[in-house]
Amino acid sequence: MKKTIFLLLISSLLPLCGIAQKGLTIQHLTGNLYSYVTWHENDGAQYPATGMYLVTKKGAIIIDTPWDTTQIRPLNDSIQRKHHQPVLMVIATHHHGDRAGGFDIYKRLGIQTWSTQLTYALNAQYKEPTAAYTFKKDTTFRVGGYALQTFYPGEGHTKDNIVIWFGQDKVLYGGCFVKSLEAKDAGYTGEANLAAWPASVERVKKAFPGARYVIPGHLGGTDPRALDHTSELAKKPQ
Ligand SMILES: [Zn+2]
Repeated sequence: MKKTIFLLLISSLLPLCGIAQKGLTIQHLTGNLYSYVTWHENDGAQYPATGMYLVTKKGAIIIDTPWDTTQIRPLNDSIQRKHHQPVLMVIATHHHGDRAGGFDIYKRLGIQTWSTQLTYALNAQYKEPTAAYTFKKDTTFRVGGYALQTFYPGEGHTKDNIVIWFGQDKVLYGGCFVKSLEAKDAGYTGEANLAAWPASVERVKKAFPGARYVIPGHLGGTDPRALDHTSELAKKPQ
């Protein structure tokens, strides 16, 4: 059973426009895996984005940089305080700002930043922050007794989207490639390949059968049915 272990309400005010900004929420998933949520203003409304972190004996690995980059330090501080471990590295699952937008800040903090070569190329093309380290093919990161696996399923939300498999816990982190059961549409589809998305979902299901938790990039939830829901949304007229 998942349970909220602590809630950090950093009720800072956005200095320029004076809008109350939501802070950082961290939730224990299972084992040494945690999800976290930060918020960002989109079309005048605050919208949440989910990322994850894994605590190993050597330090923590963050999956996706907080959409609200002012929460990078609070996230690092809470990991240090709660788990007595430094943040070693951050891996972004595609090039958008809710996944990779904090790369430059992590670099300044001396934390390794990672993405695929394709994500790096798109970040560079759009003049977005880029990772310091890249990988070309699906890669297994072995850190502090844990192995996590990156997987490129094919195009979906973007042409560079990857998912992360935490095999020891059977947790699939979908990022924006996976839509929450709460999502009513496919979200931002400006760079999506809706026609290819369902087949890409099938590749994920085949590669990682028996996922206990599937974590979408927005709106929360852990239900593996989010994979089929994503395919349904991709097939719907947008
Ligand atoms: Zn995106």
